[in-house]
Amino acid sequence: MPTRKKFVAGNWKMNTTLTEAKTLGAAVAKGVGTDERVTTVVCPPFPWLTAVAEVLKGSSVAIGAQNVHFEKKGAFTGEVSPAMLIESGCTYAIIGHSERRHILGERESVINHKVHTALEEGLHVILCMGETLAERERNLQERVFQRQVFAACAGLTDEQFHRIVIAYEPVWAIGTGKVATPEQAQEAHKFVRLKLRQLYGDNIADATPIIYGGSVTPENTAGLMSQSDVDGALVGVASLKATSFLEIVKAAGAV
Ligand code: PEP
Repeated sequence: MPTRKKFVAGNWKMNTTLTEAKTLGAAVAKGVGTDERVTTVVCPPFPWLTAVAEVLKGSSVAIGAQNVHFEKKGAFTGEVSPAMLIESGCTYAIIGHSERRHILGERESVINHKVHTALEEGLHVILCMGETLAERERNLQERVFQRQVFAACAGLTDEQFHRIVIAYEPVWAIGTGKVATPEQAQEAHKFVRLKLRQLYGDNIADATPIIYGGSVTPENTAGLMSQSDVDGALVGVASLKATSFLEIVKAAGAV
């Protein structure tokens, strides 16, 4: 049975002032310290990345961006390149979050392009995927997982795949307080891992962390993490308070 290190990332979205971001980052850094049992990442808004990177120094908390552009440089007004993120202290970038897919119309071809550029430039990628409520009601979730994961990962080398974390985030669970049951999460993660195994082989299937996101709280973390294919959590609202985020990290590490 392969053992994968638990992975917990906080997605702060478009929240926090600069002062709040530094205070939150510092509290997370203090709580985690140099403990490396759980890979812990915070993803502040772009303008606060360097300031939060500064307060994380000396801790084992890594920093990620919530998005990244698909080209390396050039005339792309308002966009941010992978190299800029790396220079700002990031090791991770979230790509394909449902809010970008559904509110900002990000297409699968764009997501695939972003994944390639981010990996080529040296970032690790937290790749989000998951079905809408309408898709689940029509029992289409497995088709959606297969399409989204394989469209996003098309053309990756094995070395690149080892820098991917897949985040299963059912759209109906994000920010709604309606968390997937541990069984629903396990069923989805197991299916995705099976497809990874069929298409990319045992090495990648066994090594790739598949984390769950959607209304994760300190109270529901242990149940989700007890499932064999649930390797961690992507946390929105509950990552905005250091106490609740640290409780989630602790609960993930205890399983
Ligand atoms: C998210 O947006 O990635 C997320 C999981 O949000 P929440 O935890 O607030 O549902």
